[in-house]
Amino acid sequence: FKLYSVPVSMESGEYIGRLVVLHDITREKEVDRLKSELISTVSHELRTPMSSILGFAELLTTRQLAEGKKKEYIGIIQSEAKRLTQLINDFLDIQRMESGRQVYNMRKVDIKAVAEETVRLYRDSSGRDILLETSSTIPFVYGDEDKIKQVFSNLISNAVKYSSEGDIRISLSRDGMMVKCSVSDRGIGIPDEEKDKIFERFFRVHSEDTREIGGTGLGLAICREIVTAHGGDIWFESEVGKGSTFSFTIPIYREVKEDSRHDE
Ligand code: ADP
Repeated sequence: FKLYSVPVSMESGEYIGRLVVLHDITREKEVDRLKSELISTVSHELRTPMSSILGFAELLTTRQLAEGKKKEYIGIIQSEAKRLTQLINDFLDIQRMESGRQVYNMRKVDIKAVAEETVRLYRDSSGRDILLETSSTIPFVYGDEDKIKQVFSNLISNAVKYSSEGDIRISLSRDGMMVKCSVSDRGIGIPDEEKDKIFERFFRVHSEDTREIGGTGLGLAICREIVTAHGGDIWFESEVGKGSTFSFTIPIYREVKEDSRHDE
C-alpha cells in the first residue's frame, strides 16, 4: 500500500483533520515484477539463437566453404531467425495478456469452422493424420476468433511436436453451457512430477526426448491466459510413453448477450 495524507481545513482556515488515502499498489507492483522478470528472461532466451546466427554468419563470411556447407549454414540462420521471431511474438503476447492490456474482440464465433481450418492447416504442413471428430451441430461460442484459433494452433502444434507417430485426434462436443475441445496425441507424454508446472511460463520438460524439439515454453501459458479470459477451463491428462490429451472449454454464445449490449 502507498499512503497519502493531507491536512483538511474549513474555508475559514480552521483545521478539521487529515484525509488519509491508502492506495493499493499490489497490481502495479506485480506488473513491475513481471516486466523485470520478462526482460531478464527475454535477454537470456534471445541470446542462444542470436549467437548461433552470428556464429554461422561469421563462418560464411570468413571461410571458403563448399556450396553444400553454405546452404546448410544459411538454412540454420533462417530457422534460428524464425525461432527468434516466434519468441518475440510469444513474449509480446504473454506480456500483454498478463498485464491485462490484451483486448479481446468478443463476438459470436463458429468454433467448429475454426477447428476445421486449423486442422486443415496442420494436416497440410505436417503431413500427419489429424482427425477432427465432431457432431454435426456444435453451438457457436462467445469469444475472440483469432485467440481461439491460437489455442487450437498451440495445442495441435504441440501434439505434432511431441509425438513422432500415431494419429492426432481433435474432438468438439457440447458440455452443458460450454463447448469442450480436446486434442489427443500418442506421443511422449508428460512425467507425473512435471505435471503441475506445465502451464507455467518458460517451463519445458527436460528429457532425452524433448532436447531436440524446439519451443519457447510459452505456448501453454498463452493458452491458459486466453481460455481463462473467456471464462473457460484448460487441463490435460497424460501418461509417459502413451500420449497426452489437452482439453479446454469456451462458453456457448447466448442471444441475451447481444440484447444486453443494445440496452447499454
Ligand atoms: P513449448 O514451446 O516448449 O512447446 P509449451 O508451453 O507449449 O512450450 O509446452 C510446455 C512444455 O510442456 C513443453 O516444452 C513440453 O515439455 C510439454 N508438452 C506440451 N505439450 C505436450 C504434449 N502434447 N506432449 C508431451 N509434452 C508436452
